[in-house]
Amino acid sequence: MKKIIIAIDGHSSCGKSTLAKALAKTLHYAYLDSGAMYRAVTLYFLNTGADYHDGAQVEEALRHISIHFERVDGHNHTFLNDVDVERDIREMRVSEHVSPVAAISAVRRAMVKQQQAMGKRRGIVADGRDIGTVVFPDAELKIFLTADSDVRASRRHLELAAKGIDASWDDILRNLEERDHIDSTREDSPLKKADDAVVIDNTLLSEEEQHARALGLARGRIAEINEA
Ligand code: C5P
Repeated sequence: MKKIIIAIDGHSSCGKSTLAKALAKTLHYAYLDSGAMYRAVTLYFLNTGADYHDGAQVEEALRHISIHFERVDGHNHTFLNDVDVERDIREMRVSEHVSPVAAISAVRRAMVKQQQAMGKRRGIVADGRDIGTVVFPDAELKIFLTADSDVRASRRHLELAAKGIDASWDDILRNLEERDHIDSTREDSPLKKADDAVVIDNTLLSEEEQHARALGLARGRIAEINEA
C-alpha cells in the first residue's frame, strides 16, 4: 500500500495540530509539528540571549541547534539539544517572538531541510504555514484550515489553561492576529493557500466532524494513488 503526504496549513490556533495528530493516528502515519521546530529555535534565542536580528549570530546559533521529536507518555514531544522543551515552547514569551524568528530565511532553510528529510518515505501528516507550498509541494493531499479569530482565541485559551499556562484571552487574540499578519506578509514562504489545497473552515465544526471530513479526503487520495 503506497503512502501519501498530507499537508495541513492555515492560520494560528485553528486546530491544525489537533487534526494532523488525529489523522496520523487513524492512518498510522508519522506526525510532523513544523511549528514546534520554529518555536524551539525561538526558545534557543530567548534562553541564550543571542540576537536573532544579527545574521552572524543566527548562523552561529543554527550550528548549535539540534531538534528532534520523541514519544513521551503517548504524546509527541519536542527536544532541543536533547532537552524536552515541549512545555516551554508553548509559553507566551515564545509565541511573542516566534513569527519574527520564523521569517528569517536562514532559519527557514535549516528547518525545511530537516522537514523534507522526515517526509522522504511519505506516510506523514505535517502541519504548519508553508507545508503545501514549500516543504512538500508534491503532497498528495493539501488542506488549508481556517476559523474565526474569536473562536481560535477561545480554543487556544482552553488549551493553554489545560496545560497550566496562564495567559489572558485578550493577549492570546492579539498574539494570534499578530502572528497571522507577520506569517502572511513575510517575504520568504508566506502563509498562503496552495492552489490545489482544499479549504476547511472549522468555525462551526466539531473535532469529530473536521476529522471525518479530512479522513474522507485522505482515504480518497490514498485509494487513487494505489489504483494508479
Ligand atoms: O504552528 P504554531 O502556531 O506552533 O507555529 C508557531 C509559529 O511558527 C507560526 O506563527 C509561524 O510564525 C511559524 N511557522 C512557520 N512555518 C511553519 C510552521 C510554523 O513559519 N511551517
